[in-house]
Amino acid sequence: MSLEPNALRDIVVSVKDEDTGLPILCSNNIKALQIDGTKVQVVGVLGYAAQSQWPQWEAQIVRALQEQPGVEHAECVFEQKIVAHATQNSVARLPGIKNIIAVASGKGGVGKSTVAVNIALALAAEGAKVGLLDADIYGPSQPTMLGLTGRPALQADQKMVPLEKYGIQVNSIGFLIDSDSPVIWRGPMVTSALMQLLQQSVWHALDYLIIDLPPGTGDVQLTLAQRVPVAGGVIVTTPQDIALLDAKKGLRMFEKVGVTVLGLVENMSMHVCTQCGHAESIFGAGGGEKMAQQYGVPLLGQLPLDGHIRAHSDKGCPTVIAEPQGACAQKYHAIARKLARELAQKPRDMRASFPKVVTQPATKSS
Ligand code: ADP
Repeated sequence: MSLEPNALRDIVVSVKDEDTGLPILCSNNIKALQIDGTKVQVVGVLGYAAQSQWPQWEAQIVRALQEQPGVEHAECVFEQKIVAHATQNSVARLPGIKNIIAVASGKGGVGKSTVAVNIALALAAEGAKVGLLDADIYGPSQPTMLGLTGRPALQADQKMVPLEKYGIQVNSIGFLIDSDSPVIWRGPMVTSALMQLLQQSVWHALDYLIIDLPPGTGDVQLTLAQRVPVAGGVIVTTPQDIALLDAKKGLRMFEKVGVTVLGLVENMSMHVCTQCGHAESIFGAGGGEKMAQQYGVPLLGQLPLDGHIRAHSDKGCPTVIAEPQGACAQKYHAIARKLARELAQKPRDMRASFPKVVTQPATKSS
């Protein structure tokens, strides 16, 4: 009896990621399925960063195939191919960046910057090329959180070369302003400084650039969301009702300018006691979930209020780097993978695959 390719494809796509309950590969992610007698070889291609899961996923697929009658040996290997996804209409893409992901919050202090840096580091650890742009003009905290000093070098053309730390490229408005004197800039100056920071940085072959937006949903944030070619937005919220009301403004802001919301992150969901490990929902439970359901956006994950997360950031070594195997780091990884998967399902940027058409004045034929 010879093995039937379509039946084997059905088996491959029926294998689920145990974390999300979703299929690991869809049929168009199967790059090759080769049958040689009783031997099956599968090559899967993923459009998002999730390399920490590959060994487990490959093994699950191999097991499922080997359970099929007639299959004596199965192999499965994964590859990664991250493409550029569509942004708001008519906003031109920036060189060196495939996808910009903007991280926003309705108000300050909800942990937006901490989520942004840990997501960036988790995506890098999952195998992507990642940059982080700290656009939080009111309190640029990424240099401290990453333990970065110094300033970006200037090229001959006056463009800035982002600094590198823990494998990601970083630029921050904090490198350019004096951190001791509060910035009292008016809206238009803020947006033009941030656009300059974004456009004048030399980003190298990034799959994802994470932008840590200024907190709030005022004119500055709205203008940025309008002018920056964003592939998707993320909203960070805490469970308190008032923060959730603010977070809803964040959702509306992205909607207004046509930016797809990839999901919500509920931060400080519950308090974990450093003495006994007891977890308690001191700010109430289920707010993020309710909001995600109400507005039809995914809840990417929930993070506890955990003193270690703050301590790691204060030391310049975010949780994903400080305790990579710890429970909190694993939560950041799961959020990063889910976010990247959400983006991978969005339409591709077709402009990237069309040749550039250059028009020239017609020359007279003799
Ligand atoms: P935002 O960018 O929203 O203003 P930050 O990321 O700067 O907020 O976080 C505010 C403070 O809360 C920082 O001291 C940070 O270390 C801390 N923090 C953020 N997330 C957590 C968490 N899950 N548990 C404990 N502390 C946190």
